[in-house]
Amino acid sequence: MLRVPPQPDRLAVPDGHHPGAPVRAVQRAGPQHLQLGHPSPPLPAAFVPPVWGIPDRSVTVRRTLRRPRPPAGPGLSAPPARVSEAVEKQQEGVSVSADDAFDIEFRSDVEVELIKSAASDADVLWAARVSTKGESSLAEIEADPERSKGLINYLMRDRHGTPFEHSSMTFYVKAPIFVFREQMRHRTFSFNEESGRYRKLDPVFYVPGPERKLVQEGKPGKYVFVDGTPEQHKLVTEATQESYRQSYRAYLEMLDAGVAREVARAVLPVGLYSSMYVTCNARALMNFLSLRVKREDSTFPSFPQREIEMVAEKMEAAWASLMPLTHAAFEANGRVCP
Ligand SMILES: Cc1cc2nc3c(=O)[nH]c(=O)nc-3n(C[C@H](O)[C@H](O)[C@H](O)COP(=O)(O)OP(=O)(O)OC[C@H]3O[C@@H](n4cnc5c(N)ncnc54)[C@H](O)[C@@H]3O)c2cc1C
Repeated sequence: MLRVPPQPDRLAVPDGHHPGAPVRAVQRAGPQHLQLGHPSPPLPAAFVPPVWGIPDRSVTVRRTLRRPRPPAGPGLSAPPARVSEAVEKQQEGVSVSADDAFDIEFRSDVEVELIKSAASDADVLWAARVSTKGESSLAEIEADPERSKGLINYLMRDRHGTPFEHSSMTFYVKAPIFVFREQMRHRTFSFNEESGRYRKLDPVFYVPGPERKLVQEGKPGKYVFVDGTPEQHKLVTEATQESYRQSYRAYLEMLDAGVAREVARAVLPVGLYSSMYVTCNARALMNFLSLRVKREDSTFPSFPQREIEMVAEKMEAAWASLMPLTHAAFEANGRVCP
C-alpha cells in the first residue's frame, strides 16, 4: 500500500481522513510532492483517536514532537517565542502550585506548511487548451514557454477562471482561533480542524508581537493602524497573558472535576491556537489572497486583519513557487481573482 512519507511536526494524515489510506492525486514528484512508493517507517507512539465520535480502530494517527521555532528577529524582545512558566519557576526555586503546573506557551507567529500539492502552470495550460486543441501531452504544453506565459496572462486578464481550478494544494495551518474564523469564511476551501471535544486543548496562546500595530485611526472602511506606545504594548502583553492563564486554569479545573472537554472549552478565548488542514485550488487561493493580503497597488485593495494576512502571505509564497507563471499573471493583472 502507498503511504505518505513521514511529515515532521504534525499529525500525519494523508489523502482523505484516514492515515495510511492510498495516495491518489500525485502528479509530479518534487520536494513538496508526495513520493509514490515511499516505504513507511515503523510508527512510533501511535494512538487511536475517536474520529467524529466514531471509534475507528483502523485509524492510526502519528504524533510527533513539536519543531523548535526559529529565534525572534533582531529587536523583538517581548513576548518571547515560548514561555514555560512552570519550568521557569521551578528553575528559580519557586514552588509550583497545582494551579501553575501547566506549560503555557505564548506565541506571536503563525505556522503554514505546504503538505501536498498537485499544482503547476501546466495544469492551467492543459485545461485551457482542451478548448482549442483537444488533448495535449505535457511535452506539447511545455514546448513554447513564451506562448504558455501569454496564454496564462490572457486567461487571467479576461477572467477565464475555470482553468485555474485544476490544481490542489493542502496546507497545514496553526494559528489563533480568531484567524480560523476568518479563514473559514472562504467556502471554496476545504477544512479539517483539530477537535476540542476529543482531545484536551494545549495551552498555546497568541500575544501580539512588538511589531504589531496596535492603534486604529480614522473611520471604519478608511482607517489605518499605527504603532502602539511601549506602555500600550506592555499592557497588551500583560493583560492577554493574565487572561489566558485564568481561562486555562478554569478549563483544567473543570476537566479535573470530571466535566467533559466539550463543555469545559467554553471558557477558552479566541486567542487559543488551533491547527487545521486547508485544501484549495489556485482560483480559490487567488480569491483568498485578493481579500486577505493588503496591497494598495492592487485593483481592489483590501484591508484584512494583520494575523490572517500573515497566514495568507505564507500560503502565497508556497503557491508562487509551485505556479510562478500564474502567480506573475495574478500580480500583473492587479491581483484580481479571475
Ligand atoms: C477586509 C474584510 C472584512 C470583512 N468583514 C466582515 C464582517 O464584518 N462581517 C462578516 O460577516 N464578514 C466579513 N468579511 C468576510 C467576507 O464577507 C467574506 O465572507 C469572505 O471574505 C469570503 O469571501 P468570498 O465569499 O469571496 O469567498 P468564498 O466563500 O471562498 O467564495 C469565493 C467566490 O465564490 C463565489 N461564491 C461562493 N459562495 C457563493 C454563494 N453562496 N453564492 C454566490 N456566489 C458564491 C463568489 O464569487 C465568491 O467570491 C470580511 C472580509 C474581508 C476581506
